[in-house]
Amino acid sequence: MKADILTIFPGFFTGPLDHGITRRACEMGLANIEVHDLRQFTHDRHRTVDDRPFGGGEGMVLKPEPIFDCLEPLQLAPREQRLAGAAKESVILLSAQGERFTQNIAGELAKLDRIVLICGRYEGVDERVADFIADRELSIGDYVLSGGELGAAVIVEAVMRLLPGAVGNEASTRQESFSPHVDLEAPGAADSTCGSGGLLDYPHYTRPADFRGMTVPEVLLNGDHQQIRKWRREQALEKTLRNRPDLLQGVKLSDEDAKILAKIERSQRLTTND
Ligand code: SAM
Repeated sequence: MKADILTIFPGFFTGPLDHGITRRACEMGLANIEVHDLRQFTHDRHRTVDDRPFGGGEGMVLKPEPIFDCLEPLQLAPREQRLAGAAKESVILLSAQGERFTQNIAGELAKLDRIVLICGRYEGVDERVADFIADRELSIGDYVLSGGELGAAVIVEAVMRLLPGAVGNEASTRQESFSPHVDLEAPGAADSTCGSGGLLDYPHYTRPADFRGMTVPEVLLNGDHQQIRKWRREQALEKTLRNRPDLLQGVKLSDEDAKILAKIERSQRLTTND
């Protein structure tokens, strides 16, 4: 996969993407990240990338020319083809007004050959970028950042760790928080603990079993895999209900899950009534 990042602060990316799985994916030849400095696509002495908004108002707006000019030599497929899914490429504008970036979108992007990420700054980007060259606008959350660079780094990392071969143990990405449903009856799935199936992940522990008097739950030490699987599923359901109840609507619950959830809800009601 190729990732092109368009920014007025190219130095920003020296560091965040040079570690861990993104670095590994690049070294293994699974990914290639190229950062493009938008100021190199300006045509004036001051290398101006922004201007005042038409109609008045606060702040400055990123001009369209450097963005269009930077994209041209990248020789992407025409936008209509990209939007129709006929080209495995996507041009993404980072924007607080965009669709919320999720694990599902990361999964969709990981199937492409190329993603292009346009980082905004100031009050935002001239709207013609969203209207005529970007395929989608993505937001990394309901808050306003000063620029799209952190968002681009977040997307690159989330996508690249899903590239086949990027993470040493691929089963681990299938059972992480938010991962789509895992068929627990499928071959190999039985070894993969409980599989997230859209829930938040279950708690993890490692040695020592007793750390300063804080002990690991007994069930994880007894080697009974059926019990461990059940406990993990229960923990994942409990944590999801507590922190992200909205996620439960998209989860395929088994009869056993429904019973566990009802039990957790009953005990929560009892605690609240006490
Ligand atoms: N005026 C814009 C608004 O109210 O929606 C905010 C502009 S923000 C200060 C500057 C740039 O930061 C945006 O163009 C976008 O690229 C980036 N940005 C800010 N918040 C973001 C978010 N939640 N997700 C992705 N990018 C964001």
